[in-house]
Amino acid sequence: MKVVNYITNRNLEFAVMAMMITEECIVCSACQTECKKGGIYYDDATERYVIDAELCDGCGACTEVCPVDCIVVLAR
Ligand code: SF4
Ligand code: SF4
Repeated sequence: MKVVNYITNRNLEFAVMAMMITEECIVCSACQTECKKGGIYYDDATERYVIDAELCDGCGACTEVCPVDCIVVLAR
């Protein structure tokens, strides 16, 4: 039973955060413009673009326009 619970929790974690911008980002903003969900924002504190897991539906459109392929899919 413990194993089943572990798998369920892991799946939930992936579903919440499916996309991530890595450190290779050159801060060009192309992904933010492309995202129709408003799911990408610039974080002033870290000076980086971030994907909002609450808004992102994992469509992958941002990955198509990123010039350095630094948006990765953690799980679908
Ligand atoms: S995967 Fe789609 S919804 Fe999510 S951040 Fe990229 S463009 Fe926006
Ligand atoms: S398109 Fe790629 S390089 Fe440009 S801001 Fe978005 S994640 Fe960074």
